[in-house]
Amino acid sequence: MKKQLSLLALLCSSSVYAEQAPKNIIYMIGDGMGPVYTTAYRYYKDDATTKPIETTVFDTILTGMAYTYPDDHTYVTDSAASATALSSGHKSYNGAIAVNTDKKPVKTMLEIAKEKGMITALVATSQINHATPASFASHNESRRNYDEIANDYIDNKIAGKLPVDLMLGGGTKYFIREDRNLVEEFKAAGYQYSDDFTALKDIKQLPALGLYAPVGMPFALDENPTRLAQMTNKALNLLDEKKQQGFFVMIEGSQIDWCGHANDIACAMAEMDDFANSIELAKKYIDNNPDTLLVVTADHSTGGLSIGAHGQYKWETEVIKGVKATASKLTGLLLESNDMKSVWQANTNIEFSAENKLKLEQAKKLGEKPLNLAIKDIINKASFTGWTTGGHTAVDVQVFAYGAGASEFTGSLNNTDIADKLINFIN
Ligand SMILES: [Zn+2]
Repeated sequence: MKKQLSLLALLCSSSVYAEQAPKNIIYMIGDGMGPVYTTAYRYYKDDATTKPIETTVFDTILTGMAYTYPDDHTYVTDSAASATALSSGHKSYNGAIAVNTDKKPVKTMLEIAKEKGMITALVATSQINHATPASFASHNESRRNYDEIANDYIDNKIAGKLPVDLMLGGGTKYFIREDRNLVEEFKAAGYQYSDDFTALKDIKQLPALGLYAPVGMPFALDENPTRLAQMTNKALNLLDEKKQQGFFVMIEGSQIDWCGHANDIACAMAEMDDFANSIELAKKYIDNNPDTLLVVTADHSTGGLSIGAHGQYKWETEVIKGVKATASKLTGLLLESNDMKSVWQANTNIEFSAENKLKLEQAKKLGEKPLNLAIKDIINKASFTGWTTGGHTAVDVQVFAYGAGASEFTGSLNNTDIADKLINFIN
């Protein structure tokens, strides 16, 4: 009897969810954010003065896991192939921007949303024509064709309209060129344009384009720890005004991946914090708008990050929290300064020991790259952080969902399943 009742409850709840097809979709992708990053972030955020380990926003909305392999038998995907799978439901080769293995364009969920008359938006801290956002609104055989991808944001008309109503990120270098000035074309098409991040609040209506850096925006740790959260907040406010039409937005934590490639743990945790705060905002939006769905996932993991290293059973988060600049910024500061000790002590809480001093001095004589590697080596050793690669890894990634239709995203999924389910909702 009990079994029958719970089965009935399950049937009822699934039919309730089936009725609740979401009106709006917030799709968030942590680039490079394998499961180890969300675990590391939990310990990084832990309040050490209390016994329990505090949970994070990721822990509150975890629903499943997804495979990320591309369609070229390498197992290890890049961001382009994975974003193509996540945007269109089609596996492709590494480097593909919303094209299949035969290099033919595949329709993306953003394009379908636009066809349906929904409002569309892309938000990223990378250049807005970088692989992940590109795979939602452009089609190209190579992610490296940045100019052509940017052109698509004007030329890839959907039912006679420009594909994306709101774009926030970096990339002026690709939009204002000698051969073509896309910014002027966007303005002529009625877009409000800004390249001043301090004037983000002045973007008052759609359509709009905000390009806040020549290429990628500065790292969260180096300049503005909340720039993605601020753009997320702005995007959700603007989209909310048009919600009667329904909206689709893809928001990318772009630079978790870049810190992973650099094997820079303090950089990665600052990016995770900005992304987590952005997810909190999306969650809050859904609490006020239960007809909206939030899906969060990653395209792959990066760096082979390991929490614990060198055979030691510990991970020193205080060391990581004590690092005040990315290794690349710290490299520049140490190269410029004659007082390495002051620079080191202003930017880390790691002792400027005789051993570390010698290591940094010797590396500085060899130049920028050896110095950069020496800095990261000291930080990784002191914090017991391990890395196995400067590239990506093929571990499954987590899937998180919240709001209308969230129960669809449970269990073991292929990354293409996520896209298929979202496209099904949009259709
Ligand atoms: Zn990457």
